[in-house]
Amino acid sequence: MNIFNMPLTSLSGIGDKRCEEFKFLGINNVYDLLFHFPVRYQDRSEFVSVDRLCEGMEVCVKATLKNRIKNIRVRKSMLISQGVIFDDGGEIGVVWYNNRFIEKSLRSGNEYIFFGKVTKNQNKLILSNPTVETIKNEKVFAGKILPVYKINAGITQKVMQKAIMDAIDKSKGMLPEVLPKCVRERFELLGIEEAVKNVHFPETEENALRARRRFVFEELFLFQAGLYKMRAGEANNGIIYADLNCDGFYKNLGFEYTNAQKKVSKQIKLDFKSGQAMKRLIQGDVGSGKTAIAFEGVYLTAQNGYQSAMMAPTEILARQHYLKAKKSMPHLNIELLTSSVKKAEKTRILDSLQNGECDVLIGTHALIEPDVVFKNLALVVADEQHRFGVRQRQKLIEKGENVHLMVMTATPIPRTLSIIMYGDLNVSVIDELPPGRQQIKTYLVGESMHERIYNFIKKQAENKSQTYVVCPMVEESDTQNLKSAVEYSSLLAKKLYPLKVGLLHGKMKDAEKTQVMDAFKNAEFDVLVSTTVIEVGVDVPNASLMVIENAERFGLSQLHQLRGRVGRGNKESFCILIANTKNDETIRKLRVIESSTDGFYISEQDLLLRGPGDYFGTRQSGLPPLKNANPTSEVELLYKTKEAYEMIVNNTLVITEQEKALIDFGIKNMYNMDNNCNIIN
Ligand code: ADP
Ligand code: MG
Repeated sequence: MNIFNMPLTSLSGIGDKRCEEFKFLGINNVYDLLFHFPVRYQDRSEFVSVDRLCEGMEVCVKATLKNRIKNIRVRKSMLISQGVIFDDGGEIGVVWYNNRFIEKSLRSGNEYIFFGKVTKNQNKLILSNPTVETIKNEKVFAGKILPVYKINAGITQKVMQKAIMDAIDKSKGMLPEVLPKCVRERFELLGIEEAVKNVHFPETEENALRARRRFVFEELFLFQAGLYKMRAGEANNGIIYADLNCDGFYKNLGFEYTNAQKKVSKQIKLDFKSGQAMKRLIQGDVGSGKTAIAFEGVYLTAQNGYQSAMMAPTEILARQHYLKAKKSMPHLNIELLTSSVKKAEKTRILDSLQNGECDVLIGTHALIEPDVVFKNLALVVADEQHRFGVRQRQKLIEKGENVHLMVMTATPIPRTLSIIMYGDLNVSVIDELPPGRQQIKTYLVGESMHERIYNFIKKQAENKSQTYVVCPMVEESDTQNLKSAVEYSSLLAKKLYPLKVGLLHGKMKDAEKTQVMDAFKNAEFDVLVSTTVIEVGVDVPNASLMVIENAERFGLSQLHQLRGRVGRGNKESFCILIANTKNDETIRKLRVIESSTDGFYISEQDLLLRGPGDYFGTRQSGLPPLKNANPTSEVELLYKTKEAYEMIVNNTLVITEQEKALIDFGIKNMYNMDNNCNIIN
């Protein structure tokens, strides 16, 4: 038997019924149980004498029960049990609520260990709802730092503690050690068994911390090892581009590069001639002009006789890139591939890709399908990368040999996270907006301002400017009082008559979305009511007003992205956040957007407010959730795990075959991967 199929029923005191209760907590076997870590600890390592108790303390008292406990039924649903306990320091009242068993289980004159909170009742201190241990059990439960677990109705803390204690006992020698000995020694980490024991039942708080440190280390270590594994398909050698002359491209651009763009353009050219594969993350705030840089890469690739692939997260965005690419590089053979391309057309595109006629393939996830075969792919551009899984990017890269990779992201990712997510990618930052851009004036307002906003929209239309109105939902729901795009667009059509109001949302067919977007671009509507499908990258320079309904429902980075849809031309631009909330914290959050247009600052604030959960563990990220580590606050360990893994890779730390296999096992376990690095769901 191994620890993963060791049933909970093999532990004493656990039968089929409790087993079911454990399942509700996601605990299916002894292994799961051992890794059900405490959410906090109670310090029972010291007994406090009764005369030293104060209100609010959570204490452990060793005392004798004075008289029999009295049960008082206050009403049908409320039973109060009262008693008095004493030690050398004096006596204090004890109260339990709705505890039918307590009266029978304690005897007057016996000494017990009580653990509970000191509260005040009619100006007298009492010990409220304490748990009670017999002196016989003292060694087990009292006089210690006790774990407090997430539990449910069927499982008490005590049952959980006992089960885990037994599990630790019965699993001796069975827990796989995924951290090699030399790594543990070098970074002063506890071994797996010691760590498990100390995370549950530490002798001191320091031991609990040491145990936790080991698990955080393990998690970050495996996380990065998994990323390295997935990237194993990435090239080290890169195709060398002999011809780096871009004059033809610049001529067609219609504007001059900003200094920031010039800097990044230089960097990518250096990459292209280095002989190393480019692995570059290009970060630039919305509207900073990343697309041109991507196109420059594409242009150079074609000029040197190779093919490029450019992947965008939505069909709208892919199409937009396609049209722009055709316009700025008219001499190239550029194709668009999305899931809505008809079969015959698709066959034609795939043929021209395979025989090398097609220079550039732009599209959505459709690009990673197995039937998409390139003749000589040399550059992959992933736009708005954080929307893709790492694996998807990988699949595209593997369609060529020694492929260069350029990842464009508009949501600036805080440094710590980018280390994890992109590891060895070089980072270029476009930290400057094209000239003539106006600061987008942002206002946070309440619902009562609607009429004035409608008038403002009309005024924009008089100036031939267009407006986006973003709603949090597609359709009306009974349960929530949120603006929905479908209903709201018809309301606005009446309110704003004779202005033309369009509608765009995620439930529409791709072809329909494209049609609406094109119409808006051609200024066939004055107002586009939309859900967040327009969040990423959509470029309609004539739109100068962004109205966001129920702004309280959106995250900061998302609001920043939405706002970035306006202020793209040279018109004075506005963003109005309409919030329906009185919650101080939410308002403070929205003030961040109102007061700043700095994407980096905003994303850092977002991370502080929401934690890194948005980046990890989502299906689209392709990255596993982190259970123990918080990479934004545990940066030091993050670097250490990276160092540890690299030391293994370059043989500074030598590990055995068995240790290697255990690391692989740990990675698979964490990522739910099969042998081919595919996720098993
Ligand atoms: P993002 O970085 O958000 O992808 P885009 O590449 O879509 O931004 O650029 C936003 C807009 O700015 C586009 O209309 C683009 O043509 C324009 N643009 C880009 N660079 C410059 C520049 N140096 N000068 C003027 N306009 C520019
Ligand atoms: Mg873009």
